[in-house]
Amino acid sequence: MRKKIVAGNWKMNTTLQEGIALASDLKNALAGKKVNCDVVVCTPFISVAAVAEAVKGSIIGVGAEDCSAQDKGAFTGEVSASMIASTGAKYVILGHSERRQYHGENNALLIQKLQQALANGLTPIFCVGEIKEERESNTFKSVIEGQMAALYTLSAENFGKCVIAYEPVWAIGTGLTATSAQAEEVHAFIRASIAEKYNKTVADNTSILYGGSCKGSNAPELFAQPDIDGGLIGGAALKADTFMPIIEAWK
Ligand code: PEP
Repeated sequence: MRKKIVAGNWKMNTTLQEGIALASDLKNALAGKKVNCDVVVCTPFISVAAVAEAVKGSIIGVGAEDCSAQDKGAFTGEVSASMIASTGAKYVILGHSERRQYHGENNALLIQKLQQALANGLTPIFCVGEIKEERESNTFKSVIEGQMAALYTLSAENFGKCVIAYEPVWAIGTGLTATSAQAEEVHAFIRASIAEKYNKTVADNTSILYGGSCKGSNAPELFAQPDIDGGLIGGAALKADTFMPIIEAWK
């Protein structure tokens, strides 16, 4: 059975000290609670190691928000997948729309990043999603299929190690959430596409998260959809008080 996952994406919002405090708050909030999903926090590079240390002994998994497409060497400013893994982190977000938009990330680059992540034992949380114009022109399915093509270069075995996040770009940080029906339509479309590319077992075992202004108030309805397996959460992941209700939406 595929995993239910609630993952936070802190983006560029936390200093080292704020990150450790947030991780500790979340660890304390989760202590002694029975939760029905995996919990992950993806943090700025600067705090991945300290957060991995801070959440030791809890159920919280830690990830980075990106990794280099390169293995190692003269790539000033880059952080490799092996460096991320060396902190104890287990996840890495790849292909977030902000990386695609502001850093020109495309399939060729993302294929390299996927290979780096997988070669170093990290679980990629691979983001796909359309911009507003693509939704309005009804071309969103072909856009998402085009983004999925990067994942489809992987063997079934490696694909099975990936998590997908559907994040309609028009819903990220805007307060506009896709309706549960709109989200479910795309999640079901992605799952059918995976079944066609690999097979039904691979499709049934793939966790597909929703992201885009997900919060405690709308998470229960989103997570009740048959093909939505959790959330990738931006703004609401920045406080334990707002992140916890999303985790607890998995009854
Ligand atoms: C995100 O950027 O991954 C995200 C889903 O952000 P928000 O929840 O703030 O819309």
